[in-house]
Amino acid sequence: MTSATTATERLIKPHGGELVDRTGAAPDDLASLETVPLTSRELSDLDMLASGALSPLEGFMGKDDYDSVLETMRLAGGLPWSLPVCLAVDAAPQGDRVALTNEAGTPVAVLEVEDVFDYDREREAELAYRTTEAAHPGVERLYAQKPRYLAGKATVFERLVPQFPELARDPAETRRIFADRGWKRVVGFQTRNPIHRAHEYLTKVALETVDGLMIHPLVGDTKSDDVPAATRVRCYDVLVANYYPADRVLVSAFPAAMRYAGPREAIWHAICRKNYGCSHFIVGRDHAGVGSYYGTYDAQLIFDEFEPHELDIEPMFFEHSFWCKRCGSMASAKTCPHPADDHVFLSGTKVREMLGNGELPPVEFSRPEVAEVLIEAYK
Ligand SMILES: [Zn+2]
Repeated sequence: MTSATTATERLIKPHGGELVDRTGAAPDDLASLETVPLTSRELSDLDMLASGALSPLEGFMGKDDYDSVLETMRLAGGLPWSLPVCLAVDAAPQGDRVALTNEAGTPVAVLEVEDVFDYDREREAELAYRTTEAAHPGVERLYAQKPRYLAGKATVFERLVPQFPELARDPAETRRIFADRGWKRVVGFQTRNPIHRAHEYLTKVALETVDGLMIHPLVGDTKSDDVPAATRVRCYDVLVANYYPADRVLVSAFPAAMRYAGPREAIWHAICRKNYGCSHFIVGRDHAGVGSYYGTYDAQLIFDEFEPHELDIEPMFFEHSFWCKRCGSMASAKTCPHPADDHVFLSGTKVREMLGNGELPPVEFSRPEVAEVLIEAYK
């Protein structure tokens, strides 16, 4: 046993105990298999199945797990799991194995067919997204899906080409890096936005209590009006280079697609980060929410639906934070007694307007290096 192996054993265990690896060689009879095309969301789920980011899942869910997840937020065996990971098809395939293809029609994986079942889109919407409104982006995608789910173990022989190769790290690799750096307690930070002072503050408050921070931006599909991943990645780079100690922070890409499922996605995001080796996970206000579908604190309250050690990964809840002129520091309603007049507050609309006009927001709101990246992107 190498010392690195010993060190990774000090980290939090993957969900279910073992890190799944569903990568493998293409079968000899690949050309003779029926093909099933995957959407970009399904491809991103498939890639996370391959890497173990969705441990203990080994493939797309069968009916038992699907029903149990929707109704109890647990897999059929009882392990917490909050969102379906399913593959939608038109009809049951003929054979007992099929080739899964990417958007170009190239086979990337083989699935051992275990089950094909009907599902009720509105039921899934209500339980997973807490709404049946088609205007919700996750529900909209669900309603456009094919009518049946195909379940089975997947073996992936062609991984997705990462959008940001320098940030692409599978759970086994982030775990090795944490171990090499001597980190045991690591906090993960999910983000799909540029990081301004408020989020810098809460990541640093969290980091004060643990060994390391993984800034883990989601780089899979997002809504078209979210800031593009390439711009966000440049923001993270300049922020970390200028304001974080290099030996305490890792920026790495999270290849998931956004579902915008709010509370249930917060749980799912936490479980995935546990697989990457994080012992703690930051949950802010309206985590993974969209519009006004979820209450401000719903994504924090949902963690109470699990027993204290059931998830193992520890959520860290944060309030909205701001610069307070009288405190002379970043603060939140928990730590600052002063009225709103003393706080530097800018609405999202105001910030976009300033950046669009080439103006730097106040340094108390945004680091100038980050603002400059955004001004460049808005041109
Ligand atoms: Zn104050």
